[in-house]
Amino acid sequence: MKITVVGTGYVGLVSGTCFAETGNQVICVDIDKKKVDKLSLGQVTIYEPGLEKIFLRNTKEGRLTFTTSLEDAIKEAAVIMLALPTPPGEDGSADLQYILGVADHLGKIIKDYKVIVDKSTVPVGTADKVKAAIAKNAKVEFDVVSNPEFLREGVAVEDFMKPDRVVIGTTSERARKVMNDLYAPFVRQGNPLIFMDEKSAELTKYAANSFLATKITFMNEIARLCELFDADVDMIRKGMGSDGRIGKRFLFPGIGYGGSCFPKDVQALARSSKEVNYHFKILDSVMEVNETQKLHLMPSIKAFFNNDLKGKKIALWGLAFKPNTDDIREAPALYMIKELLAAGAIVATHDPEAMNNVKKVIGDTITYAESQYDTLQDADALVIATEWSEFRTPDFNKISSLLKNKAIFDGRNLFDLKQMEDLGFHYVSIGRRVVKQN
Ligand code: NAD
Repeated sequence: MKITVVGTGYVGLVSGTCFAETGNQVICVDIDKKKVDKLSLGQVTIYEPGLEKIFLRNTKEGRLTFTTSLEDAIKEAAVIMLALPTPPGEDGSADLQYILGVADHLGKIIKDYKVIVDKSTVPVGTADKVKAAIAKNAKVEFDVVSNPEFLREGVAVEDFMKPDRVVIGTTSERARKVMNDLYAPFVRQGNPLIFMDEKSAELTKYAANSFLATKITFMNEIARLCELFDADVDMIRKGMGSDGRIGKRFLFPGIGYGGSCFPKDVQALARSSKEVNYHFKILDSVMEVNETQKLHLMPSIKAFFNNDLKGKKIALWGLAFKPNTDDIREAPALYMIKELLAAGAIVATHDPEAMNNVKKVIGDTITYAESQYDTLQDADALVIATEWSEFRTPDFNKISSLLKNKAIFDGRNLFDLKQMEDLGFHYVSIGRRVVKQN
């Protein structure tokens, strides 16, 4: 099948590459010329495990190409996928200017039947708006399908190639057949293709992300209670998670959720609800708790230094909003850095993949070290903000010898309390007892 993917970011590049991998002819379009030039030269523009290998195979075999021209890209396409940004607008609602701008353009340039697929996360009713924007100028038949994407950054290729489910919102039989053929290679193991109407598909994506953000936030509040009651959130997590109705996953407390999806999607669903005069109360609480959770370690850090962080050097491990990605959008680490700098601290950071992206945003207000241990030279304490696997079993002797104070503030509960005690660290984590130095 001939496919055009519009928008070559995390979702567009992974989707385009994976569709090429199953034998389709894929053209990816982006307005960012630098990005298109790099991709055309065979350079992957994001860090995503497993992507480079299949990207190189498919570009080499000519099944995956890149352009800045929407008009050239869609000429022969049967399917046009929109993987465009939907950032929060000023009032928290999803900003549809990118989607509707492209829809308007498509109406002017399509010359035969196309299936136009909305892969971006968009509010209920967007498929209708896209239809209307195209119909204003289109002289041929077309269908607009809602096909929200559920891939997770860090395991995006695996998620795309073997999705738990594919949700497809369409009431057109013609489009349904095309989508069925397109996804057949991805659901051979019996994972379902779930067909529904466009609005239900749009809402399914927001419901899933908002539920997951709520689950994380619920555990963060249980962790806060554990700290007050002197209980251990790890034990509670295990006790709760063995109940099949609750499940073991997504019960890990930490310094809040971030990323390009949960924060904006929770906000957008709360906002959409208001538009139909419904106050989605849980979501307001989720947003409120998460805002404060990002800075949950700050009072403990300040208390350790008697409320005076001026001139103190803090080593910070982890900048990405989660491991295995270079994405720093809404990363809790950035909120911590802002607060630490405001208190007069000096911040030395390391992240395996995300340092370049952070440099672009906050430049040399902090330092960037080649290795995690380089951050510790003359540092007064270590803070951990992302659970990269290389941070899980560090050389504690090295940490002890480099740090001025043996103090670790761990926003991701990476270490065992007993081990920290035996090694003589002051160790603060989330929802667990504080290990104090003797
Ligand atoms: P992104 O910002 O990484 O990529 C968007 C791309 O679109 C950019 O490369 C940008 O240059 C390009 N673009 C903007 N305007 C354009 C135009 N007029 N024509 C062509 N290209 C244009 O965004 P993303 O993370 O891939 O997210 C895209 C959508 O998918 C969002 O709605 C997001 O909520 C949703 N989503 C994201 C994820 C994720 O993990 N990132 C997962 C599921 C769903």
